[in-house]
Amino acid sequence: MRRTDGCKGKSPLNGAGPSLKSHRMSIKPILIHPDPRLKKLCAPVASVTADIGKLAEDMLETMYDAPGIGLAAPQVGVLSRLFVMDCVKEEGERPRPMVLINPEIVAISDEKNTYEEGCLSIPEHYAEVTRPKRITMRWLGLDGKLHEDEFDGLWATCAQHELDHLNGKLFIDHIGAIKRGMITRKMEKLKREQARK
Ligand SMILES: [Zn+2]
Repeated sequence: MRRTDGCKGKSPLNGAGPSLKSHRMSIKPILIHPDPRLKKLCAPVASVTADIGKLAEDMLETMYDAPGIGLAAPQVGVLSRLFVMDCVKEEGERPRPMVLINPEIVAISDEKNTYEEGCLSIPEHYAEVTRPKRITMRWLGLDGKLHEDEFDGLWATCAQHELDHLNGKLFIDHIGAIKRGMITRKMEKLKREQARK
C-alpha cells in the first residue's frame, strides 16, 4: 500500500527539470476540503497558452513542496482540466514531472488495485480505494500535442485520483458515508481552528 497525492516523502524540487528553472515559480495555497470549488466540474483548457504553462509550473512546485505526488488545478482554485503528477518516489531516482491537460481515460484494465489514498486537500486522512490497476490516458501536453500512455500501479491510481478532482470528486467519495462524514467533520474543525489563528 502506498499513498497517493498527499504522500509523505522527500521533495525532489531541485530535479524538477531544466525547463522549470528558467522561470520564477511560486507556491500556491492548496484548498482544504470542504470547499465548493473542490466539488465543481472543471472546464476544458481551450489552448495551451503561456499562462497555462506558468500555472503548470507553479502547480509542480506546490506539489513538490507539499510534498505530494499529484495536484489538480481545482486544488489551487483554478477550475480548469489540468493536473500534474510525479510518482517517482525511490531515493536517487530521477524525478518525472508530468503535466496533463484535458486528460481522458481511453482504456482501463479489468484487474483492480487497492491503495491507501490521501489528498493534499484532506491532510492527514487516508483510506483504501480500489480502482482499475492499469489505464490508458490521452491528454494535451505543454507542447500543445496529444499524448497517450499507459499507467500502471501507483501512477494509474494517482492519474485516476487527479482526474476525479477535475470532475469535482474526492477520494472520500469512493468510501463509506460514515467514514466520509467523520473525515469531513474533522476537516471543518481544522479549518475553523486555522481561521482563528
Ligand atoms: Zn487529491
